[in-house]
Amino acid sequence: MTEHETRTGIGVSGGSASGRVVQVAPPVRPPKDEPAPADVDGAYQHILESFEAVAVELESRAASADEHAAPILSATAMMARDVGLHQAAANRLKVGDGPATAIAAAVEEYAAQFEALGGYFAERVADLRDVGGRAVAAALGLPAPGVPPLTEPSVIVALDLAPADTATLDRELAIAIVTQAGGRTSHTAILAAQRGIPAVVQLPGATDIPAGTLVAVDGDAGEVAIDPDPELLEHQRLRREKRAAALAASSGPGATADGHMVPLLANIGGVQDAEEAGPQDLEGVGLFRTEFVFLSATTAPTLEEQTEIYTKVFAPFEGRRVVVRTLDAGADKPLAFADLGEEENPALGRRGLRLSEALPELLDTQLEALAAAAEATGADARVMAPMVSTADEAAWFAARVRAAGLKKAGVMIEVPAAALRSEHVLADVDFASIGTNDLAQYTMATDRMAGELSDLLDPWQPAVIDVVAAACTGGAANGKPVGVCGESAGDPLLALVLVGLGVTSLSMAPSKVPAVRLALSLHTLDECRELASVARSARSATDAHDAVRAAASTALTEIL
Ligand code: PEP
Ligand code: MG
Repeated sequence: MTEHETRTGIGVSGGSASGRVVQVAPPVRPPKDEPAPADVDGAYQHILESFEAVAVELESRAASADEHAAPILSATAMMARDVGLHQAAANRLKVGDGPATAIAAAVEEYAAQFEALGGYFAERVADLRDVGGRAVAAALGLPAPGVPPLTEPSVIVALDLAPADTATLDRELAIAIVTQAGGRTSHTAILAAQRGIPAVVQLPGATDIPAGTLVAVDGDAGEVAIDPDPELLEHQRLRREKRAAALAASSGPGATADGHMVPLLANIGGVQDAEEAGPQDLEGVGLFRTEFVFLSATTAPTLEEQTEIYTKVFAPFEGRRVVVRTLDAGADKPLAFADLGEEENPALGRRGLRLSEALPELLDTQLEALAAAAEATGADARVMAPMVSTADEAAWFAARVRAAGLKKAGVMIEVPAAALRSEHVLADVDFASIGTNDLAQYTMATDRMAGELSDLLDPWQPAVIDVVAAACTGGAANGKPVGVCGESAGDPLLALVLVGLGVTSLSMAPSKVPAVRLALSLHTLDECRELASVARSARSATDAHDAVRAAASTALTEIL
């Protein structure tokens, strides 16, 4: 038996998988001091060859891509052969830029022109920059940045992954994700869970694992075994089977063992997620992150475009609830068309509802599109605002939602101020949903992107649990439902604590619903209350987790 090495990071998306490592090369920038070329003609030839290498690579990817991706890749390959772009780079060589610098500058000149043209051209800017990044890498003799084309089921390993990279991974071939950086509630982690891809972040030395190495990833334990023993692979396989059998045994609406109903809902980020979640055994959508649909849009989506998208999202949920969150732009989810300029500290700046207040037409167009989609589909649409801090903000938002003809308005509770004052904040709205990801960030004064501080961001932090409890108390005083749609709702043990605190619904990545349903079915409401008090009397996040785990049913803990 070989002794394999096991490294530990933080598991952010459950399940296990084993496969060979594909390393994702980081973005490449031209060196700051790249010398002016001694031979301008030779340098121009080098630029042409670099662009041509990019075009050939993109064309070969197009040849094996599906019907959606192939035309996009072919169109992007054509950009690399654009004579005007080559000429712009040649002009930069003449003023003394080195080849990589000339490519980057030419691409930026072109990008500015595309943006000025607007419409279709503006939407191609991300593709143009992709071509530019690849050509710069080719000119410097470095591997192309981004996820390379996958030819077999692979474990994607990176320093960090951009949300857009995670969102476009082929889930048949990307069987697990491992990153060296990244945080527990970074949007990349959320997207991995959303897409049901086991993922571990904060893995020490992840980028040093050679491409092609066989690794076994355990997204629950946060462990990665390098060159794993056959025994480990067999052990993981058996555990997967046992877990699958236990989960398959429970179905139907979420409820505690004594019949206290807790609707289990899906977090989704777009049409494809909605189409996949629709047929699943869940009671609707508890969080539709609308900004995810527009992450790479450079111009504001029109009323018609939005209506079409929301109608497709609502359609699979006829008769079920769909809680839509209005655009939560800013901080780690910048939207090009909702940008108010740079801020020193964007997580504390004009993001979420604060940005909607600055750009009310954007909000009104979105609400109008949502109302039209709700009307067209018969889904029980409810709309909530992100990043609400005060009762006045909640009332302002609710008035606009109702003016658009939508029946139910709610708020997200992600700011401790809103949790502490929830009785007043909820007075003018119909419901609240606690975003524990941001609530932990703001309660613990810890950037959710700062992977190295993830212990502070642990949703088991007793202070965060106390703030959730305050939000529930205010909701109950008003008779208003208070759900949770942050990542903690998908942790089966923490879900029990949340229900014990008075949380009325739980929304999570659909892949997490079965384990949470099983957890609820194994505990009564009183037992959940007892677990909540166990968590609240602990002095640290680890103690809270360990004490709740020890007190929970072994039928649950043996499969976690
Ligand atoms: C949250 O903050 O918990 C939440 C659900 O919203 P997001 O993760 O998109 O910020
Ligand atoms: Mg949030």
